[in-house]
Amino acid sequence: MPRLGVLGWPVAHSRSPAIHNAALAALGMDGWRYQRLPVPPQLLADTTRALGQSGFVGANVTIPHKRAALELADSASDAAAAIGAANTLTFAPDGAIAAENTDAPGLIAALGEQPRGLRAVVLGAGGSARAVAWALREAGASEVSVWNRTPERAEALARDLGVRTIARPGPADLLVNCTSVGLQPERDELAALGLTRERVGDYRLVVDLVYRRGRTELLSAAVERGARTLDGLAMLVAQGAISFELWTGRPAPLEVMRRAARL
Ligand code: NAP
Repeated sequence: MPRLGVLGWPVAHSRSPAIHNAALAALGMDGWRYQRLPVPPQLLADTTRALGQSGFVGANVTIPHKRAALELADSASDAAAAIGAANTLTFAPDGAIAAENTDAPGLIAALGEQPRGLRAVVLGAGGSARAVAWALREAGASEVSVWNRTPERAEALARDLGVRTIARPGPADLLVNCTSVGLQPERDELAALGLTRERVGDYRLVVDLVYRRGRTELLSAAVERGARTLDGLAMLVAQGAISFELWTGRPAPLEVMRRAARL
């Protein structure tokens, strides 16, 4: 049975199994199955190597493994190598692992407008922040500024990707939260992002990569301030569709995947 999955720690929250299994069912790919793969960091390399020998065709990679996934792969696309992180692994019949990054094109597809000429602020410096900063720069954003709780990680990202760091999030056209703040509802999510409710009004378009039942504090503040908003499920479906096509060679049934994401 060809198998797919998502490697993460934690991974219980992931909507990827629902999205991909709905797509497989819609295309009549009965023998295929997509499952959660909860793997702690210290077991990632060994477990991932074993997947290729256990019937796995591919795996998505989520928090906190995207940088490590690139390092353990045998080959990488130019985009994944430039970003320095992978969210999609493909296993060849001989067990070789190829790394791709579909978060970057997934963000651009989900945005619904071209970022060319936009000033963007990216929050976070992990695997997804790298993909988002790179995608926005490649798509012609006029300025990409990165803020992170740990400034040294933002500086490393900025050096690698040719963008700039900021001491606190300032006004721009577009704000993208690429931290894991909001994954679990918590007190003062905005403060953890260096923001206040008023300052969320400084952005015309606000994207939160995090998704959960109900709005994150960031998205509810953005709606209150009249910004256009995009939640994490929109990007999850967009990046998942690109991964699905890579593994199966079949066009992804986008509408089915969108509906499954929001069930
Ligand atoms: P990661 O590599 O582990 O990076 C986590 C980031 O969050 C780091 O910048 C970290 O800052 C920051 N952070 C964590 N806890 C924080 C806190 N309490 N206060 C402030 N900052 C905090 O994770 P990732 O793979 O980039 O993923 C980040 C989030 O994006 C996850 O929630 C993931 O589910 C989501 N995501 C969604 C999609 C989608 O398609 N919707 C795609 C990719 C990622 P430090 O450097 O200071 O630790």
